[in-house]
Amino acid sequence: MDATRRVALGVLVLAVAAGALALGLQRPFSVAVRPESRAESIGFTMGTVARVVAEGPDADAAVAAVMEEMDRLTSLLDRFRPYSHVALLNASNGEWVELAPEVVDVLQEALRLAELTGGAFDPTVAPLIDLWGFVEEELPAGEGVEHDHTGVAASHAAAGSSSSPTRMAGTAPPEPEAIAALLPLVDFRGVEMDPEGGRARFSKPGQAIDLGAIAKGYGVDRAVQMLREQGVVRGLVDLGGDVYALGTRADGSPWRLGIRHPRRSGQILGVLHVSDAAVATSGDYERYFEHGGARYTHIVDPRTGWPASELASVTVVAPSGLWADALSTAAFVLGKEEGLALLERLPGVEGVLVDKELNVEITSGLQGKLDLVEGI
Ligand code: AMP
Ligand code: MG
Repeated sequence: MDATRRVALGVLVLAVAAGALALGLQRPFSVAVRPESRAESIGFTMGTVARVVAEGPDADAAVAAVMEEMDRLTSLLDRFRPYSHVALLNASNGEWVELAPEVVDVLQEALRLAELTGGAFDPTVAPLIDLWGFVEEELPAGEGVEHDHTGVAASHAAAGSSSSPTRMAGTAPPEPEAIAALLPLVDFRGVEMDPEGGRARFSKPGQAIDLGAIAKGYGVDRAVQMLREQGVVRGLVDLGGDVYALGTRADGSPWRLGIRHPRRSGQILGVLHVSDAAVATSGDYERYFEHGGARYTHIVDPRTGWPASELASVTVVAPSGLWADALSTAAFVLGKEEGLALLERLPGVEGVLVDKELNVEITSGLQGKLDLVEGI
């Protein structure tokens, strides 16, 4: 190797080294630091099986934080947990009770939705739910509740994911006099709010609230907000059938969410194509008891005190989980005609109503976004 070539090689080596150094220095500024990642978590929270799937930077941390937050919300909102804020309010006998901001928030939204649905959705229905025994039966010590959750494909979450009904404490309808005695307590207008003071109280002694028809929807919204703040671009939040489809699937197409068949366990009735929307189902197949050949389900008509009996399921698509959850319960109470009319008149809201004979009605905006299974 002559002198000139040796120098040239030296320069080349130096240039490469300098280039590498420059690149190395520049890397934090010019190249995306963290690759996109996908994370998934399944756990029991909010009284149900929850599944969160997320894609984005730090997806693992985002999903773990969501699960923790769902546990925290449960401890505030579950009326059967001693010292939950809802339990404290229910035991208040008309005194003002200080509530966490989240509880004030859900309660205000619940009252708004009660107004909007003409009281078909009414969180003060709790005394009737207890009278009818639409609460989980206490199991003898050692007997746990089995929750079936065999992996549902990421692109195909099932709205309403548990497959067998929960055993209810109630076994027969209560006396009509007992129902009539409680009806005056079921009145959302009796809930007085002081949002600035962060408190609430009941105007009628004996009133109590049950957020079972709205809490999961609220949880879904909180989860989606957290995922978005963490930079998650696409994902699914599924709290036992209250679902939010965040963004689109990786190929840019909408998420596909199955609607459960109300009478055939494990089968679907149709598939919804949605992105950036919430979906919730209220059905008569998960929490009910049978008596004298009739099915009494856990959704009670606050006007009569009797379980709603016209429909088998209502699935609602809405901009928020809270709306989807409350409106599916309300439409279930209202029945086919009035329920459909309610969903039609609300902007951004669509629905699928299935009656006991399995006739399916859909709102006009769902055309092209719903594939019904043939011969249901
Ligand atoms: P969902 O499955 O979302 O329709 O909610 C049903 C749950 O909400 C029941 O288990 C009751 O705890 C409660 N609930 C029942 N009927 C009503 C009603 N008319 N308005 C509000 N909550 C209700
Ligand atoms: Mg609901």
